[in-house]
Amino acid sequence: MSVQTLQQSGLRPGVLRRASHRTLQAGMQGAVRTIAAVACLVFVFWDADWWVLRDKVEHIRAALFGAYLPPECREDPTQCVQDPKTGRLIVQPPAKIGERLSTECKGPEGLKLHCQLHTLFDHFNKELFEGRLPKALITLQRKDGAGGFYAHQRFRKAEGGRIDEIALNPSHFAGSSTIFLASILVHEMVHMEQAYFGKPGKGGFHNDEWGQMMKRVGLHPSSTGNSGGKETGTRMSHYIVPGGPFDNVARSHPLLQKDRLAFYE
Ligand SMILES: [Zn+2]
Repeated sequence: MSVQTLQQSGLRPGVLRRASHRTLQAGMQGAVRTIAAVACLVFVFWDADWWVLRDKVEHIRAALFGAYLPPECREDPTQCVQDPKTGRLIVQPPAKIGERLSTECKGPEGLKLHCQLHTLFDHFNKELFEGRLPKALITLQRKDGAGGFYAHQRFRKAEGGRIDEIALNPSHFAGSSTIFLASILVHEMVHMEQAYFGKPGKGGFHNDEWGQMMKRVGLHPSSTGNSGGKETGTRMSHYIVPGGPFDNVARSHPLLQKDRLAFYE
């Protein structure tokens, strides 16, 4: 065998190895791309709710083409101000939201109670939940035996997306103090917190985690509504922990200091 032939025969397998390595690499990259594409498609089509899908697509489009609006501004533009530097809408600094909350609810008679309930929702969201709960539709419903209930993503919004419902029972308005009514609102807000950031019990069961979240905001879970009741169950009430976070935050709000809402049954 000549030197040249040896070199040739020595080179060929190396070239082949490099070539097959490149083919393998290209194949792997192709497979990764395919898996990523399939994962994206699964992510997009996973949710069978087309309103939610439309909202996601709108979100991606807005992010890509620079017209992005924070969700808070899309839901309630009054929470937002124009950034002087970029001209885009941004969420108002907390101080401004505080100013807005302390103003009296004025406007059409029929809307005053709802305005007050939303004012309280915003107040508790800011003071007890670090403002991380999304807006909810607060309705008044007479569900037997319940002071209120929470329904995750119950309503469909005309402009796309969904919104949760917090229902309060107006039959309880006559016999309870305004502070206790506010505590029912916060009880339902804890269900909301658990729906977004925890693991709610099946079939409306008030589980241990919910109980811990209640205690964190200064409401003690109780099946009887008094001390000594069971702390988990399907039908649950609570009592206000004196001097606890809820007690302090509720008493500091002008609406609850006056101890009156616009309407009572
Ligand atoms: Zn409950």
